[in-house]
Formats: sequence, C-alpha cells, structure tokens
Amino acid sequence: MQIHSNHKEILDGKTTDIYFHKAEEILKKENKNPNVAAEVYAKKLPDKYKWAIFSGLSELIELFKDKKIDIQALGEGSVFFEREPILTIKGKYLDFAKFETPLLGYICQASGISTKAARCKIAAGNRTVLSFGARRMHPAITPVIDRYAYIGGVDGVSAVLSAEKLNLKPQGTIPHTVILIIGDTLKAAIAYDKTIVKGIPRIILVDTFGDEKVETIRLAEKLKNKLNAVRIDTPGSRRGDLSLIVKETREELDNRGFSDVGIFVSGGLDEYSLQDLNPYSEGYGIGTSLSNAPTINFSLDIVEIEGKLIAKKGKVSGVKNIFECNRCGNRAIVFSKDTKTRCDCGNEMNLLTKKIMEKGKIPYKPEEVDIIRKRVLRELRFLNV
Ligand SMILES: [Zn+2]
Repeated sequence: MQIHSNHKEILDGKTTDIYFHKAEEILKKENKNPNVAAEVYAKKLPDKYKWAIFSGLSELIELFKDKKIDIQALGEGSVFFEREPILTIKGKYLDFAKFETPLLGYICQASGISTKAARCKIAAGNRTVLSFGARRMHPAITPVIDRYAYIGGVDGVSAVLSAEKLNLKPQGTIPHTVILIIGDTLKAAIAYDKTIVKGIPRIILVDTFGDEKVETIRLAEKLKNKLNAVRIDTPGSRRGDLSLIVKETREELDNRGFSDVGIFVSGGLDEYSLQDLNPYSEGYGIGTSLSNAPTINFSLDIVEIEGKLIAKKGKVSGVKNIFECNRCGNRAIVFSKDTKTRCDCGNEMNLLTKKIMEKGKIPYKPEEVDIIRKRVLRELRFLNV
C-alpha cells in the first residue's frame, strides 16, 4: 500500500490544510482577491539555536511556476537569525493561498535538517560526517533528508538513491548481521576484503561480540595495511563513557604502530556528543539526530494589502529586507522602501535577499546542490554551535 503523496497532489493543493481551501472558497464568493505582500520568518529557533540555515528553496519555487507571483528570498544555504524575513511573496492572494501548507513544509523540514547538519559539521571540525538517518524516516523522503543534510555540510550519505541523486558514492561498512552470520569479526573482515571492490575503504565494525579494543588490535595485526579504519557503534547499555572506549582503542592502535588505522563512531550521536570524541575519531555516522532534526517553525504572514500596511497582532506590518555590513558583519531588518542603509560603523550595508521569481518565472538557472552547499560551508567558518 502506497500512502505518500505525489508531486501532482502537492501542486494540486491536496496536501494543504482544509482551512486554506475554505479561505479560497469564501474570498472567491466575496469577489476579493487583492494584491498582497506576505513574509516568511521564524519567530523562534529550536533548542536555543543562535542561527539557522535556510534550505528547501529549490523545491518551494516549483509551487509557484507560472503563477504571476514575485518572490524575494535569501539564497538557499544562507545563514539567518530569528525574526528575519527570509522570503517575501507578492501577488494576488488567491494565486498562492492554497500553497501555504506545502510552502512551509518544504522549508521548515529542509532548513531544520540543514541546520542540524551544519551544527554537527562545525562540532566535528575537519572530521568526516556521514548521514546515516535514512532508517528513521519514511522511505519516500529519504533523498529529501539526505539532500538537506548534504547541503548542511555532511560529507556523504549512506542511502543508495540519495547518493545517486547527489552524484556521490554511498558510504557505509557492513551491518552487524554479517558478522553474526559469519560468526567472527576477523572472518567477516576477510570476507569483506575478498568481495567488495578495490578502492572502497576497508572499515570494519568491532563491537559485535567482544571488546572494541581487543577486536581492533586483532584486525589490525592480521589485516595489516589492508585495514583502513574500524567502526565503533557500541550499544547504549554497554557504553559507559564512549569517549574513553574510543580513546583507549586509539592509544592501543598508536602504541602498536597502527596510527594510519582510523576510528569511525556511530550510534546516537549529535553535535554535543561529538566534542568528547573528536580527539580520537576520524569521522562519524550520524542518524536520528539528523533525520529527526527539529524543524524550523517558519510562518507566513500578510504584511501589506494593496500597498497598505496591515498585519495581525504580534507581527509588524510592511515589507522588510535583511541588510548586512560586509565590514563588521552587523545585520539589520529594514523597511523595503529604504533601499539603502548605513551601518553603525559608517559602511553602506548590502541587501541580502534577491529576486527568486518574477511573475512565476525564474530569472536564472536554479542553483546546483554543490553551489548551495558551498555557501553553507562558507558561512560555517564564522559560526559556533
Ligand atoms: Zn559595519
């Protein structure tokens, strides 16, 4: 049984909340379809985040193709802060009313995953971070989750289709089941080396039966330079202090002349737990915390109707724009009629948003995923978790 929606159902407004359909019905009957301006912003970011990464824009614009809508937005992959209007829509209200639900859905989840990935990437420093979260989410959106994790800065993904769509090689070792069935970690490692094509790193799980350190030494001594790394995925009930297990394994490898053998860690990791593991690890597989990342709760609010300022309680009316000073990094939210603005430092600030869509047409070629990802990686140099 297939339950998930398809692209056509989304474009037909069938995944939309009924109240937008009611709004459409009433306004049509009342013959009201004004020109409006509406803003998307996040009043509050989750989990005390100080910043977030905006993503999902490439999917969102599909909703408004040929619909006489203007969209001004931050570039996909840009950093943003609470209350910044990251996207503005202008047009006849009924041209976009019934797309509010999927519009927010596209960017709330995407930005949540990209932000979490970016936070993990910062925490990991120059170590590899892989997205292992496919199994925690509905398979219909596996490539969606991995795309936004990749945009957020992870170095690779485990799911085959995701990797294919991102033009990457899928990454991963072997499940514990292979070791259980073969009956021994070393024998499974030898089988792995025999079967899996050359050029794929030999990374072997060492926590199936015995002690992580003992298994690692056994593999390193028998496989010698064939062993690229071990993966430690110790179950929670046996962990104690995971960083001490990894540290001890690292030191035993180094003492025996196996400094080239890396250690990958996976299992329940997030941006906070990486920090203790960093001194001894070469990389991480991160699952649930990425695919189940808190969403960014964007909302869409009308701020002008027929050019007149209007907004609901709790929201400031009028179209606003985000400006940034390229000298000191200050940012300001400025009413759009003020096209120029000066920073406290005296420097002229730059408008950060750009025209994404004009009357339903996209004025330039959509950005490739690697361009968006590079924008994130540039931003990350100046950010902390
Ligand atoms: Zn300045």
